[in-house]
Amino acid sequence: MANHYRRNHHQAFDEECDYLFKAVLIGDSGVGKSNLLSRFANDEFRLDSKPTIGVEFAYRNIKVADKLIKAQIWDTAGQERFRAITSSYYRGALGALLVYDITRRETYESLRKWLRELREFGNDDMVVILVGNKSDLSDSRQVEEEEGKKLAEAEGLCFMETSALQNLNVEEAFLQMITKIHDITNQKTL
Ligand code: GDP
Repeated sequence: MANHYRRNHHQAFDEECDYLFKAVLIGDSGVGKSNLLSRFANDEFRLDSKPTIGVEFAYRNIKVADKLIKAQIWDTAGQERFRAITSSYYRGALGALLVYDITRRETYESLRKWLRELREFGNDDMVVILVGNKSDLSDSRQVEEEEGKKLAEAEGLCFMETSALQNLNVEEAFLQMITKIHDITNQKTL
């Protein structure tokens, strides 16, 4: 039943959309990746999974500059605690949301490791948005907004603080990534 629905649903997507993009969510376990992805969800959102490589992904259709884009967003399904994410996770991905938790300093310290992995496995011109999540928990803040900004500037990334819980900036973060991917892809095909 679920498979039948999914197949039809994808067919409808494929007929309509102008581009298909893959993007990935990365960052330490518990920073809020799954919640960000569900927030980005709306009625068009469907979860799917590849249990063999321990990932989940979701699709959403978005209009950018009159083009219908089908964004396929991969999540690590909690596996990041147990193993390094492999090249198959990054393969073909044009964008990434690199997420840390503003209330857990160690998740910010891990960003160096994630950036190394991104450079090793990711596309050279991958669009990366640095995301400081859980901005609603300002009383427990361990990483200042300025620190996120500075790191993003130094690494040439975009930056945003979000709250998946309160749905703050979530749409904006994903949209910024997707719009930038669209712009880069468009330039290449001109
Ligand atoms: P993941 O392991 O990175 O996918 O993280 P999850 O999405 O599973 O979230 C880990 C925990 O953080 C869960 O208990 C969430 O409810 C909580 N969480 C996620 N995003 C937020 C947020 O923006 N604010 C708050 N207060 N909690 C959050």
